[in-house]
Amino acid sequence: MSAQDGPATDGDWLPLREELRGVEPYGAPQLDVPVRLNTNENPYGPSAAVAADVAEAVRAAATDLNRYPDREHVALREALAAYLDADTTAEVGAAQVWAANGSNEVMLQLLMAFGGPGRTALGFTPTYSMYPEYARGTSTAWVTGHRTEDFTLDLDHVRALVAEHRPSVVLMPSPNNPTGTALAPETVDVVCEAAAQAGGLVVIDEAYGEFRRDGTPSALDRLPAHRNLVVTRTMSKAFALAGGRVGYLAADPAVCDALRLVRLPYHLSSVTQATALVALRHAEELLGRVAELRGERDDLVAWLRAEGLDVADSDANFVLFGTFADRHRVWEGLLGHGVLVRETGPSGWLRVSIGTPAENAAFRDALTLTR
Ligand code: PMP
Repeated sequence: MSAQDGPATDGDWLPLREELRGVEPYGAPQLDVPVRLNTNENPYGPSAAVAADVAEAVRAAATDLNRYPDREHVALREALAAYLDADTTAEVGAAQVWAANGSNEVMLQLLMAFGGPGRTALGFTPTYSMYPEYARGTSTAWVTGHRTEDFTLDLDHVRALVAEHRPSVVLMPSPNNPTGTALAPETVDVVCEAAAQAGGLVVIDEAYGEFRRDGTPSALDRLPAHRNLVVTRTMSKAFALAGGRVGYLAADPAVCDALRLVRLPYHLSSVTQATALVALRHAEELLGRVAELRGERDDLVAWLRAEGLDVADSDANFVLFGTFADRHRVWEGLLGHGVLVRETGPSGWLRVSIGTPAENAAFRDALTLTR
């Protein structure tokens, strides 16, 4: 890992867009620390069997590297549709699925395709810190409402903001990052109906969807009810493929048709497509780890509460906890004990990703020594 190199110039002469001047590049610190619990990665690498299959698939793809990849990534979309189909009461076919290099790229493509100049995107804070970055990159106005004390949404507030700003796109993670809070199904319906009246799309970002607790439904179930609903997912978390860069969406086929108009040609490399197909073939094994991580998460939530801390309910593979008068001191204290967490979310709170049982124990020990 070496992401510590800074810019090579002071940027003075660049004909930069005015609003980019002074902006820092986005990204959590990539520090070489024994226990890294700051970017919600899956702590488990692929098993030897999965790694061997990936290597074999990449070797096979290598013989064709002189050719551009399938720009329609048909085999991958079919495999993703089959996977999603098993996680929802809705029927999902390949024509409703679209993939790109991470769900970040999927959402960027959505902003490129929907709404013209002067468009607005709407979110509710605290929320995923990349949303304003997509907005800035596409010259989209980023408007935010707020969440309630328990990080859920007040439906009247949502309706009022959608009516006022008429956003082209509403961006809502479920579970939300950094709070871990999932959206209630009626919230999805209310937002979709309000956005439809304003001619906008609703993106429910389920990057952490596979980690949701029993009884928390997926927004995929609501696809048949709303043509303007887009559900995004990623292989970075549950499938332990953050380095592979594969995210995808399920939506009305018209949404995929729109993305064909803004994607770069051949945006998903043949190596990426081959790797993702192998991971999907091993879904059962990879998702087996998700059950363990959910158990570890529930144990950590209980432990933090027993320690007298505030903890947000979590349907994800991370937990938001606090509240500290000086969270930076706690963050530094943890780092001093070799544990990297994320200083994000409302002031006073910290976010910790769920690691292996040993990593979670190291976090608990470090927190006990730090407080
Ligand atoms: N959405 C949310 C809420 C996230 O937290 C993340 C990753 N941090 C992403 C999307 C993007 O993930 P990726 O691009 O790796 O699919």
